[in-house]
Amino acid sequence: MAAYERKFGADILPSHRRAVQRILACRTAALGGELYRCPDCGTAHFVYHSCNHRACPQCGNADATEWIDHQKLKLLPGLIIW
Ligand SMILES: [Zn+2]
Repeated sequence: MAAYERKFGADILPSHRRAVQRILACRTAALGGELYRCPDCGTAHFVYHSCNHRACPQCGNADATEWIDHQKLKLLPGLIIW
């Protein structure tokens, strides 16, 4: 963010500034997380919260992949184009 600030400074729109801050904090301790525990073996697994911003390379890609998979389910057999 520091380099981005130096390059664009006051020209950064508030909405863009918030987006960059959220994306930089995505899946880090800054956004907190959830602790999951397997009911069978008791193994714990901590997962950081994601930012869910549409421009986030991590969240955006996951959402797009999920959307494409959902759309594929709607296709008739034999009509797959890709
Ligand atoms: Zn994200």
